[in-house]
Amino acid sequence: MPAPRSRLIDELRRLGISDEKVLAAMAKLPRHEFVSEALKTRAYDNDALPIGHAQTISQPYIVALMTQLLLQGKRLKRVLEIGTGSGYQTAVLSDLVDVVFTVERIKPLSEVARKRLTGIGCRNVHFGYADGMQGWMPYAPYDGILVTAGAESVPPALLAQLDKGGRLVIPVGPQGGQVLRVIDRRITGAFKEQDVTPVSFVPLLAGKA
Ligand code: SAH
Repeated sequence: MPAPRSRLIDELRRLGISDEKVLAAMAKLPRHEFVSEALKTRAYDNDALPIGHAQTISQPYIVALMTQLLLQGKRLKRVLEIGTGSGYQTAVLSDLVDVVFTVERIKPLSEVARKRLTGIGCRNVHFGYADGMQGWMPYAPYDGILVTAGAESVPPALLAQLDKGGRLVIPVGPQGGQVLRVIDRRITGAFKEQDVTPVSFVPLLAGKA
């Protein structure tokens, strides 16, 4: 593994990421291929970076944490991601679950991510250009849903499309005051939620751009 990438993986371990499968998936992925030429030297810093259209590729620690929380050490079958962005989180998921459905509201980002993931050999990903606040109904229900933009409140469609026994991981709250929330849907259908840590995401916006 290239030295900067292996230093990043060590840092994620130090920060408490313990799921070896998640760490291995990130160790394999060339994050420098998900950012512009000018930012390639910073691709393995533990930072969010701009990807154009006022959006960012998430911080590696947050990607690792959200993935670890979503999977809980299991192999999920069908995962919905809201906010494809660069496709980095999508690629991490595609290595760890059977099928990923990813939705993005900015068309050029969706198209670039699709080409990028095809280029690195991800074959189990379906890309949607749509408003993810509505979930992605045709493929519902999902046993995992991961949202990579900050919601003012949890969109009801995402709760409705979460299967019993499934888990939703979502940043919620006002800009400047978001928390990472984990919502489990019990076999009975009831929801149980816990807030994990403060986070800072670009906003989840309604409608297609
Ligand atoms: N996982 C991405 C994060 C990108 S930033 C990565 O690591 O690269 C969040 C993304 O969510 C942005 O691309 C933004 O356009 C998208 N987004 C915001 N609101 C959305 C919505 N309602 N539906 C789909 N995508 C949305």
